[in-house]
Amino acid sequence: MSTTPHELLNAFDLLLSPQRFKDFGPNGLQVEGRTTIRKIVSGVTASKALIEAAIRAEADAIFVHHGLFWRGQDGCVTGWMRQRLGLLLGDDVNLFAYHLPLDAHPELGNNAQLGLQLGLVPHAGSTGRFGEQELGFIGGRTDGTTFESASALADHVRDVLGRTPTLVGPAAGPIRNVAWCTGGAQSYFEAAIAAGAEAFITGEISEPQAHYAREMGVAYLACGHHATERYGAPAVAGHVAARLGLAHEFIDIDNPA
Ligand SMILES: [Zn+2]
Repeated sequence: MSTTPHELLNAFDLLLSPQRFKDFGPNGLQVEGRTTIRKIVSGVTASKALIEAAIRAEADAIFVHHGLFWRGQDGCVTGWMRQRLGLLLGDDVNLFAYHLPLDAHPELGNNAQLGLQLGLVPHAGSTGRFGEQELGFIGGRTDGTTFESASALADHVRDVLGRTPTLVGPAAGPIRNVAWCTGGAQSYFEAAIAAGAEAFITGEISEPQAHYAREMGVAYLACGHHATERYGAPAVAGHVAARLGLAHEFIDIDNPA
């Protein structure tokens, strides 16, 4: 089976409702390629390595969380932008990118899928969300048990994601309420504290959050931007590919950050 870039765009837009979000770059079809799409390759970031791997895998379309275009860029097609765009246009590959809409999708998004990996489920309804544009999730363990300490939660995250998190703040004490938001969600920490979290899981930490964690007595777990955002893109691309009868492959380009 095959589809066109515009039919595929409609399918992604219908699922992810990008019009509901204020974002840092355009969501949807960022680079238009060939008109017949049989195979989608998904990945986290439209890096040169991913584009090259997708071309080797004979992708007609690439679906990512981090696309090419962001607010604040100078708009020049030089350096890394020239290389990545050159590969896409040279091979006639379509590039689809969805940023915040991909974080937010209640079942297939980055936050929902990270929760699934970690055995965490958000509280019902709006009590399970926090922060700007309600992107953050807050809840507990799927099996109803509590983590005996933030150290135990950090060990669990390490076992699931294959990467040791940076833990700041209180290591002891039971954790009933866990807040999480994938990627670079440092700025969500204070909202997570206000929502009653005893621990906050995200990708990265910046200098101020280490102090907030110590002073507010809430554990901060920086688990890797890439490591926490590996799950939404394949979930969404796989779902849409199955619905349209297309082939799909997730290609993970490792990133220590
Ligand atoms: Zn990200």
